[in-house]
Amino acid sequence: METKQFKAESKRLLDMMINSIYTHREIFLRELISNASDAIDKLYYKALSDDSLSFDKDSYYIKVEVDKENRALKITDTGIGMSKDELENNLGTIAKSGSLAFKNENELKDGHEIIGQFGVGFYAAFMVADVVTVISKSLGSEDAYKWESMGADGYTIVPSEKDSVGTEIILKIKENTEEENYDEYLDEYRLKGIIKKYSDFIRYPIKMDVIKR
Ligand code: ADP
Ligand code: MG
Repeated sequence: METKQFKAESKRLLDMMINSIYTHREIFLRELISNASDAIDKLYYKALSDDSLSFDKDSYYIKVEVDKENRALKITDTGIGMSKDELENNLGTIAKSGSLAFKNENELKDGHEIIGQFGVGFYAAFMVADVVTVISKSLGSEDAYKWESMGADGYTIVPSEKDSVGTEIILKIKENTEEENYDEYLDEYRLKGIIKKYSDFIRYPIKMDVIKR
């Protein structure tokens, strides 16, 4: 299986986020939930102009699941999903969210302020996870694909299985170190707090599941 490399800009931003910004790690969840919400919006707007699609608001939601034993945090959405090409193009390039240009201009004088205010995007997941897996099935497609990455080393895409259209993002949460606590991102109450703080305005229901054994 071939491992593909991130584009250069992406690598730079990824390294920067992982290594130099510590205080706002929690915003990774805001970024993933806002992407999930955007994906449901896309389905909604498509349904408006396409009579063959119906949009029943109740069956659209975002789900956050915690599996402590496996250190897994999963964010699922019932949005429009991504095809193989979209996984490749959308998750293979970081610099899309517009924050990189801004950061360059300001020479990162105040990285903390910037990261708090601006969308940093999908790659924020690597601030808390050492493996990120994305399983997605695009609207109108029978095939699902799995994108997986351990960060700066690149990513792989392989065929996968998924019943319904939408996207599942699984974060393998980092082990605690002497300086840093990551267990908090597997704690239901902490996660609820983060969701309340940053994602209260999201228009779709955010469900939470904790897997207990
Ligand atoms: P932005 O949201 O600013 O475009 P991101 O880095 O957050 O930047 O996401 C990059 C792209 O990846 C999105 O524009 C979207 O096309 C795609 N994407 C990310 N998450 C999802 C998701 N849950 N469902 C569908 N597409 C997604
Ligand atoms: Mg985004």
